[in-house]
Parts: sequence; structure tokens; C-alpha cells
Amino acid sequence: MSVPTLEPVRETTRPARQINVAPPPVGLRYDLTRFRLLRTLLRKRWFQFMLVLPNQAIFWLVIVAGVVGRQIAPANIATAITWYLWFCIVFVLMVGVGRGWCAMCPFGGAGEWLQRKSLFKRKDGSVGLGLKYPERLAKYGLLPAVGIFLLMTFVEEYFNVAGPGAPLDTALLVAFILVFSGTTFLVFERRVFCRYLCPLSGLIGTVGQMGAVAGFRAKDRNVCLTCETKECMRGSERGYGCPWYEYPGQQSANAFCGLCSECYKNCSKDNIGLFVQPPLTSLYSNVKRRMDVAVGIALLAGLVWFQQLNAMTWYGNLEARVNSLIGWPHYPNPILYLFFCLIPLPVLYGLGRATAAGSRLSTGGRMGWRRLFVDWAYILIPVFGMDYLARQLPKFFDHVLRLVAVVSDPLGLGWNLFGTAHLKVANDALMSQNGTVIAQIVVVLLGLAGSLYAAWRIRQHTAEYAGLTAAARRVQGALIALSVLAVAGMQVWWYVLMKAAE
Ligand code: SF4
Ligand code: SF4
Ligand code: SF4
Repeated sequence: MSVPTLEPVRETTRPARQINVAPPPVGLRYDLTRFRLLRTLLRKRWFQFMLVLPNQAIFWLVIVAGVVGRQIAPANIATAITWYLWFCIVFVLMVGVGRGWCAMCPFGGAGEWLQRKSLFKRKDGSVGLGLKYPERLAKYGLLPAVGIFLLMTFVEEYFNVAGPGAPLDTALLVAFILVFSGTTFLVFERRVFCRYLCPLSGLIGTVGQMGAVAGFRAKDRNVCLTCETKECMRGSERGYGCPWYEYPGQQSANAFCGLCSECYKNCSKDNIGLFVQPPLTSLYSNVKRRMDVAVGIALLAGLVWFQQLNAMTWYGNLEARVNSLIGWPHYPNPILYLFFCLIPLPVLYGLGRATAAGSRLSTGGRMGWRRLFVDWAYILIPVFGMDYLARQLPKFFDHVLRLVAVVSDPLGLGWNLFGTAHLKVANDALMSQNGTVIAQIVVVLLGLAGSLYAAWRIRQHTAEYAGLTAAARRVQGALIALSVLAVAGMQVWWYVLMKAAE
């Protein structure tokens, strides 16, 4: 194999510039590359390809089945697999792992194959324009991705795609994401799409910080200090430079490691491991908690609140009135949608301001409201993230067994490929209505516990909080606990009222 030229260190985004070494990571970590089998697999270039391939095949099946299959949602594999199974799996991976889905994602995978002109081999050069993402946009981080997610969700709700409605709509949605990602991969270099624009990345980059996979990181940051090659970022003959613009010698959160293992293949000093950590560690060990993540999670929380409220009768009445006022045809009303998505922002702003004012009374030190706004948002990530997961449960419990029948008759044309098309179990629910509500409440309560724990650890690991007087710390702690309890209590109440509505 010819030795490719080293790719230059990217200079247009912040992560690649910061090549000084961050403080050592907080919390217990375990390096999974201690297992020889995993080490061997991670060194193989085909390994990630094999993770992506099955999902790639499934999403092409979704497109074909959605276009040519019968247009009845529970009878067509396009709708059944996408909305009864896949969407729920993505949320479970998000809260449990972090960017687990990204390691096997067909959207990023297909774009990368196209851009690299290769399914898995290391090749020089790339197809497309290879533009750098503009610095003036890069400073907004995940916010464009969150904005695209909000926009796509609005369109999806308008056409009832995930209801699910007609399988053709699901096929068009998947095809649109494939075209959008493919085009972005051809216009921009590396994984600009994943880092800044992918609608799912807005959710995974925020909620995914609850996850127990820390990502690929340096085993010993001191080795990186004297490393002159920086192959992890620049690439080598064994692999590409980090497509996500990360520097493994500095990472303290899992938000932007796409688990692609290129750095692991590249590092000639064998200084990279794949670490797992206790859940939520990325929320409090992240020395640079980010404003884009804070604003992003606030908007996403507003979105899931909107989706919960619209299942209630009073919301239907309110929307009917606003629709007739502005001449909007039907659900969702854009003004109410925007209003509810924005609601958590002033709430977090108020909490940030209040706690900043409180810190001024303290003799020990002052804390700015921006800092506290961001910390409040990170504290609430578990309760918001688990709310997203709880919201997916009714659809999963009620319909996932449809897949038993649908695998035998994927297009809904009366086939019986594996003899399971007419099994009665395919029409059963996995859980009763009451059982689903209880499961939703348990999930929210786990989020509540996670938020309280994150609050405790964030305050423990952040120097500024230590400067507050004991009285100020107690008042602040009580305010945090009450606010988190109020948010979780409200969500629990909504789930009781919704009676497992999908
Ligand atoms: S960021 Fe989006 S496109 Fe990229 S790998 Fe993750 S889910 Fe897929
Ligand atoms: S190539 Fe390896 S040793 Fe060098 S900076 Fe990257 S992780 Fe550290
Ligand atoms: S190259 Fe390494 S740090 Fe970068 S995304 Fe891939 S696994 Fe993560």
C-alpha cells in the first residue's frame, strides 16, 4: 500500500486547535481494548463497515418497501421497523451508550463511503469539494443540528410520518436524510454533516452525554504531550485523521467521538483505548460545558413537552382556536410549536439569573449567570433525556410484535416467507396500558435520580462552587433539588394524564 501524505491538522474549528492537554478525566474508567478480540477487530479496516452494512441494507429495504409495498402502516416493514423498533433503539443507545448508534449509522456510513471512494480501505484523496465548514457557523456547534431536528419534527408531525402514516412518507423521509447527508459529505470535508448538521446529532450530542461509553481517548495524556506525529488527528497509512475533528489526547466528554476507531488504528504509540465510564460522567467531568449543548437541550426539552401536551384535550381546544385565528389547516400549529419549544429557555435563564444573584450575596465568590445557565441545562439533561425515552415506550410496547408478522410479509402483499405472517402474537401488545404508564414513570424517576446525582457531582467537581459560603451552597442546592423535582413531577403527571397515548 502506498503511504499517503499526512493530512494537515484542521485549523478552522476549535477542537483541533486545542492541542494542549486537558486535566485528567474524572471518575472510574475501564479500557475495553484490554480484550484481545476487540483489539484485533478494531485494527481491521472492515470492522466498522460490517457494523454499518446491516443497517444500510435495512434502510434501503425501508425505502423500497415504502415505495412499492402496501400503504398500510402496521403491514409494511418500512413503517413497522422504523417507528416501532429503530426509533426506540436509538433512544436506548443514546441514554445508555452515547454515540453507539453513530458507530453503525447508515447515513454517516454511506456519506463516508462516497466521500472516500472506498467502503473501508484507506485511500488517498476524496470525492467532492472538500470544503471546510465556515468558522462563523462552527461557533454555533450543535445548534444548527438541533434547529434541523425541530424543523424535521414539525414536518414529520404535519404529515403524520411517525404516527406512523403512509409507508411512502417514511421512505421519503429516510431517502431525504440519505440525500441530505450524501450531498453534505460531497460538499464538505470529513464528517461535517455529523458534527454540525445531522438532525439526530443534536439529540445524541446532548442527551448522549448520559451514556456509559466515554469513547476513544488517550490512555496516558503525557505521552500525547511529547507526540510529534499526532496521527490520531492527522491520519496515517493505517487510517484517516479523526473525521469528527476530535483530539483523543484531550477529550473529557463523549459528545463528539463518533466511535469510528480511526484514531485507534492510527496511533503508533498504542496510546488509545476505548473507555467505558459510570453513566452521566460526561456531564460532570466535562471541564468545558458548552452553551450550544445547553441551549440545544432546552429546545429539545420544549419539543418533547409539546409532544406530551398535544395528547391532552385542552391543547386540542387551544390549537383549534389558534388555527382558526390564523387560518392554519391542522395540527401542528407552527406558533404553538415554536412557543412550547422555546419555553424551557426563559425558565433556565431565570434559574441561572436567580442563582447568579444568590452567589453575589456570598462572600466566597461570584458566579456569572451564563455559567449557571449552562450548568442548570447539564443538570437537567438526564430528566429531559429520559423523558424522550419514556415518550417512545407506548409505540414500542404496543406494536413491536408486529415485526414477527412483517418479516414474513415485508411489503404487505400476502407473502408468508418464514411462516410467521399470521401468528396471533403479532397483534398483541408487550405491555398493558397501565404497565406502560408505570414503565414511563419509572423511566422519568430514573432521570430524576440522574439529574440530582449530576447536580451533586457538577457542584463537587467545579471549583467556583467551592467559593460559595455554606449558606449560599445550601440555598442553591435546595433550589436545584426543588426545580428538578418540579420538572420530573410535571412529566410524571403528564404521563398519568396521557394514559400511554402514542
Ligand atoms: S451524527 Fe447523524 S449521520 Fe452522523 S453517524 Fe450519528 S446519527 Fe449518523
Ligand atoms: S497519535 Fe497517539 S500518542 Fe500521538 S497525540 Fe494522538 S493519541 Fe497521543
Ligand atoms: S477518530 Fe477516534 S476520537 Fe475521532 S471520532 Fe473516531 S474514534 Fe472518536
